Amino acid sequence: MSTNKIHHLNCGTMRPRGAGRFDKDLAVFPCHCLLVETNNCLVLVDAGVGVEDMDDPRRLGPMRFALNLKRDRSETALMQTRVLGYDPRDVRHIICTHLDLDHAGGLPDFPWAFVHIPEAEYKAATRPETYRAKERYRGMHFAHGPIWARHEQYAPDKWFGMDALPLGKDLEDFLLVPMPGHTPGHCAVAVKNGSGWMLHCGDAYYSSEELGADSSKNPMMKAFTHIAHMDFPLAAAQKGKIRQLMGQKDITLCSSHVPQEFERLSGRPLKV
Ligand SMILES: [Zn+2]
Repeated sequence: MSTNKIHHLNCGTMRPRGAGRFDKDLAVFPCHCLLVETNNCLVLVDAGVGVEDMDDPRRLGPMRFALNLKRDRSETALMQTRVLGYDPRDVRHIICTHLDLDHAGGLPDFPWAFVHIPEAEYKAATRPETYRAKERYRGMHFAHGPIWARHEQYAPDKWFGMDALPLGKDLEDFLLVPMPGHTPGHCAVAVKNGSGWMLHCGDAYYSSEELGADSSKNPMMKAFTHIAHMDFPLAAAQKGKIRQLMGQKDITLCSSHVPQEFERLSGRPLKV
């Protein structure tokens, strides 16, 4: 039984322009990160939007117009860590589902932390080859020289029959569970939680409806995911894996941008 304490943080509120007229699930969404207090340190799952991006959203490039970020420094992981009474220097590890701008923007706020990432995502983000990749991965989020912990040693069938990437001695209660498609190295992050697990699925899905039996009912969501995922068929296949896990009573699922999940798990309303 783990004694990890999981805090659910919204590290960036997005209000995509006009999207709410088509789909209420896309009107306002959080950037749901986890701050985990373990026996010996703090661990962040995703870094959200950082302080410098809140001060100057131009750093986010052209995508800032579509995302329409609420500028609020108090939503950054750095500020919320302090408000919870912790010393941000105790954040020793950041485990990233992927390195898109709304997940990696907070990395410069914790330059002393190890940043855990699969090799495939490291390569995609630090050497983006297409214009689209350069829009979503922002070089200034890595310009401070993060202490990368790059992982490529897969352990087959390690987690509920799925391949996983163990993260080393200090992080035995955490695993990266590869779910590529949204980006090349996109992963879910499994965190031991009491006798069960919390699985943060990153951007593998954007609404609980997507995980239902008939996810084709919502054409707007389908159009949005066609744009959001770098490899749509591969990303769609990952949802099959998540559906299999939904029946497991020991697993609690969450993802980055589903408002209802954030509100239920944090016990707080999303502040628009
Ligand atoms: Zn995202």
